[in-house]
This record gives sequence, C-alpha cells and structure tokens, in this order.
Amino acid sequence: MIIPDKWNLRIPGPTPLPPRVQQALIQPMIGHRSPTCRQLVQDVSLRLRPYFGTEEEVMIISGSGTSALEAAAISSLDPATEEAVVVVTGAFGDRFAQILTKYRMKTHRLDLPWGTACTPEILTHFLKQHPHISAVFLTYCETSTGILNPIQELATVVQQESDALVIIDGVSCIGAVECQMDAWGVDLMVTGSQKALMLPPGLAFIAASKRAQARMQNISTPSFYLDLSTYHKEIKQGNTPYTPAVSLLFALDAALKLMEDEGFSHIIQRHHLMKEMTRRGIEALALPLLTDDLYSSPTVTAVRGRIDASADEIRSFLQARGILIAGGQKDLKGEIFRIGHMGYCDPMDLFPVLSGIEMALSRLTTEPLYGVAVQAAEEVFTHVSSTRH
Ligand SMILES: *Cc1c(COP(=O)(O)O)cnc(C)c1O
Repeated sequence: MIIPDKWNLRIPGPTPLPPRVQQALIQPMIGHRSPTCRQLVQDVSLRLRPYFGTEEEVMIISGSGTSALEAAAISSLDPATEEAVVVVTGAFGDRFAQILTKYRMKTHRLDLPWGTACTPEILTHFLKQHPHISAVFLTYCETSTGILNPIQELATVVQQESDALVIIDGVSCIGAVECQMDAWGVDLMVTGSQKALMLPPGLAFIAASKRAQARMQNISTPSFYLDLSTYHKEIKQGNTPYTPAVSLLFALDAALKLMEDEGFSHIIQRHHLMKEMTRRGIEALALPLLTDDLYSSPTVTAVRGRIDASADEIRSFLQARGILIAGGQKDLKGEIFRIGHMGYCDPMDLFPVLSGIEMALSRLTTEPLYGVAVQAAEEVFTHVSSTRH
C-alpha cells in the first residue's frame, strides 16, 4: 500500500461502502422494540423483495451469510427421514454440503469441475438417479470460481424430476443480477449484506416460498437462533425475534435508497458491463479466464496465472500498489486471482485494476503489455456508451 489508509477493495466481498451508507452507520442507537425500529424493519424487508423477485416476506438474520445458509438447511429437511442433493461447483457449494453433513442429513453430492457450471442436462441425469429427495441445494454465483449457475433452468429441472424444495445460495449476486424467485419456483433464497448490497458484513436475508414456509413449521431438527419459522412469524409484524444489528439496518435503508435511485435494471446492466470489460481486458493480456463467457458471473471474475507470472505474484504486485484482489480458495489456491466487481463499483473503477495487472505482467515477464487490457476494456465501455446515448 502506498498511502497507509487508502486502497481499492476489489475482492468479492466485503465490498466498498458508499459514503452515505458509512454515515448511516453512526446514527444514534434506538430501541429494537420501538415503533421506529419496527417501521424500519418492515420498510427494508419490503424494499428487499424486488431483488429476490418475491411477494413473500424477506427475513433478516443478524449473522454472516453462512448463518442463513445454515438456517435454510435446518429449516427444510428432516435428517431422520429425508435426503438432499447438493450441487457443488466450488467452495460455497461445498460449504452447503458441509452444513448438511454436520447435521447428519443424508446428502448426495453432485460435484462439478471447479470453473464449470451445472447444466440442466447434468442435473436431470443426476436427479433421475436419486428419485427420493426432499431438497436440492444450489449456488447462484459460485464466488470461488466466478460461475453463475443457470438457476432458472435448474429450478425447472428440479420441478420436472421431483417435488423437492429448491434452495439457493445467492449471497454473492442478489442485488446485482436478475432474480425471479417466485416465477422460477425457488423455495428458499439466501443472501448476505457484504456483497452486492454494499453493506458491511453482519446481516443475512432469506425469503421462503409458501411451500417452504409450510415445511419449516414441522421440522424436527433442533435449532433455536436459526429456526426460520420464528423469523417468519415475527417479520410479518416488523419484528425480528432477537435484537437485530440496528446500525446495519440504518445502513441497509441508505443502501436501498441508492439502489432505488439507480434502478434495478440499470444496476443489472452496470454489472454486466463490468464483467465484459474485465473479461475482454484480461483476454487481451492472454491470461486464461477460469470460466466460459456463457456462465460467467457479472459480480466476480477468476483468472489463472502463467508460468512466468503466477496468480499470487500478480496479486502481491497489485497489493503493494493499493489494489486488493482475492486469491483462490481450496482447490484453486495459488492457481487463480479473483477480481470482485459488485456493489459500489462502476466501470471506471476497473481501470486501475487492469492497469495494475498490465504493469505486473510487464514487470514479471519480458513482454511489454502496457495499455493492452485498459484499451480492450475501454473499447467495450465506449461501445456500450455510444449505443446507449
Ligand atoms: C460470501 C459468501 C457466503 C457467505 O459467507 P459469510 O462469510 O458467511 O458471509 C456464502 N455463499 C457465497 C456464494 C458467498 O459468496
């Protein structure tokens, strides 16, 4: 870092905070059972619905994203009698599977090579082999690889092949990509605060279909803090069962205001553009992208290193210059770096990252690549701007 308290946070979560969100965090405390707080909870919960694509209540848990993944798992399956399928396309699918295993739920893992998506054909084939399942767990954006799984098509497959609940980890993309939970037949959709929603870590959000609401009423898995039926009962009155992270609710109010001012369709387009700019820029440098264009996520891009310039060397070079990107997780540790481009991030924010990568490659290898990625990204940006205005 050049200036000690100045950096570009381009990891796939936590993401940078808009100044208005940061200011909202320092408001004076209020009572969590006050009418003001009840109004706030009711209001933010309602305003979250469009990003889920639901008419149902959005429940708010004070906890990181994983708390809601765990709540979804234990509120939908009876470990004694029921079986589940978990589609694992990376580290977060694996986390879902680990949660189920911990609760001794009978799980069938569908493991895909990291960096590829689960296609409807693959899922159909797998479900035909496992006809007696009660839930299918999927990841929308697999943050560890930058894959966006085709959730709509996959949910359709589940409905064709079974009566299973469709449960989705949407932590790293809800609020940045289209989501039509009700129309697609998704039963539980989970997200967290510190990714596309531009908030600090600490809140998790979850919406349940009518079917999932009925299911969570009679589950025998013991749970207290994460029993979703309690959250669902309370949210109807604008309550959370326990003291919520009140400051984060103030921040959520501010973040939603920003999202409403921009408009969801514009937000979706902005993320799509940032993905295109990043990918075309990286391609121009001849660095291998981990994922295909077809299933690539608009929120995070994973890139492989080269023999003469490893992913970690490139990442350290950027870090020394105040640009923070992420490395690989688990199987991909040391193999890739990941650029987060979600939430409070706009197209111009990508140029320092691309420029830094050019400088790293030019320094680490003998190839002068100055300006190459920036130019490719500029061409994408300019083209889109000129066709739009
Ligand atoms: C960040 C993330 C989570 C949640 O992680 P926490 O550290 O518990 O907030 C879950 N799933 C995905 C896909 C994520 O990107």
